[in-house]
Amino acid sequence: MQRRNILVVGAGPVGSVAALACARFGHRVTLLEAQERIDDSPRASTTQPPTLEILAELGLIDEYIAQGLVARTFQFWDRPTRRLIAEFDFSRLRGETAYPMVVQTEQHKLANMAIGRLRDMADAEVILGSRVTGVSQDSKQVKIETENGELLADYVIAADGGRSTLRKGLDIEFEGYTWPERFLVITTKFDFQAELGCCLRTYMADPDEWTNLFKVAGDDLKGRWRAVFNTRPDETDEEALSDDSVRARLARCYAQNADWLHLNLYSVHQRVAKQFRKGRVFLCGDAAHVNNPIGGLGLNCGIHEAWDLANLLGGDESKLDAYERRRRPLNIKYVQEQTVANKKQLEERDPAQREKRFEELRRTAEDPARHKSFLMRASLLESARDAIRA
Ligand SMILES: Cc1cc2nc3c(=O)[nH]c(=O)nc-3n(C[C@H](O)[C@H](O)[C@H](O)COP(=O)(O)OP(=O)(O)OC[C@H]3O[C@@H](n4cnc5c(N)ncnc54)[C@H](O)[C@@H]3O)c2cc1C
Repeated sequence: MQRRNILVVGAGPVGSVAALACARFGHRVTLLEAQERIDDSPRASTTQPPTLEILAELGLIDEYIAQGLVARTFQFWDRPTRRLIAEFDFSRLRGETAYPMVVQTEQHKLANMAIGRLRDMADAEVILGSRVTGVSQDSKQVKIETENGELLADYVIAADGGRSTLRKGLDIEFEGYTWPERFLVITTKFDFQAELGCCLRTYMADPDEWTNLFKVAGDDLKGRWRAVFNTRPDETDEEALSDDSVRARLARCYAQNADWLHLNLYSVHQRVAKQFRKGRVFLCGDAAHVNNPIGGLGLNCGIHEAWDLANLLGGDESKLDAYERRRRPLNIKYVQEQTVANKKQLEERDPAQREKRFEELRRTAEDPARHKSFLMRASLLESARDAIRA
């Protein structure tokens, strides 16, 4: 194994995991983060089985499960008629993975956990509050400019998120589109499970306005729900965030008179970088691709990339091209296509088509072979298998 000097830009969940993986493989690692503290806004929590396998390899799995909630099932509902359409059970994946489950742990907890481990390692350094402003490279090394000076590295992992400074600095196109609607996340203590009898991960279809419900542990481990709604394309931020409209949205999802803890509004995109590698710099996670969050796939895919890349960086330089060759098509096939299909599933307007889709879901859930094959794809286990073959 070659011991390399690796600089990771961005201490989100992907950069932190990439840095920890590289450090555990024996590289000298510096993790640079623009902010003084890790962003704890409510984004990813759904962690799929192959990602849990990676967290186990990194020695994080027990702590990760302890800080989250185990969800063995997920459900599809028809929201207007308050009907359960189908339930999928990850126990059907027994024998395929050591973790036949999803764990709902908030993404900032993962970043903080990985950073905690890095701080105890002799050859790893974590620098917060240092924004990267530029990048240049020759055939031997990369130079990173920050607000506080320059740093040199053999390789750089750009995990600096959807608006990646490095991706822009390297002039890599971010192909795709932005959805006209935004996604509103309402965090509430209202107990949807008690009210509806739904499970911890529930997708509710509605032609006018769908809802995704997730229970997370919260920092106090006392539990809270995130209800995700689409906004109307013509709805202003003020309107979407106003008390009246939030109350009405919760009521349409059967949470009458519920209070809320936080509101967050996100723009949503489907974009993939034209290149995942330029010379000695590799794009990873949201810096390389962004997608709508329905299905809980984007961060999971980013962590698979971080792990793959950390494995490649200790090997022969001629093998490094494998990163882009396999990761870009995998993201398009298993994350972009799937999340667009998931969104369509929830918002289908044609009544006959809606019933047809529901019937299809019911039949898939009832047939053991189809149930399992549906979960193999939805859990990214199929993508992880393809990565090994690619
Ligand atoms: C509502 C919502 C729900 C989601 N749910 C899921 C889910 O359940 N499962 C899932 O898999 N995905 C989900 N996602 C997607 C997931 O949140 C992202 O894929 C994830 O945040 C990507 O992590 P990252 O580390 O690549 O980027 P980020 O989390 O964006 O982190 C990038 C980091 O880089 C830092 N940075 C930026 N610029 C610089 C710079 N110039 N210099 C230094 N540092 C810099 C930032 O401060 C930040 O800390 C969801 C997204 C949303 C919006």
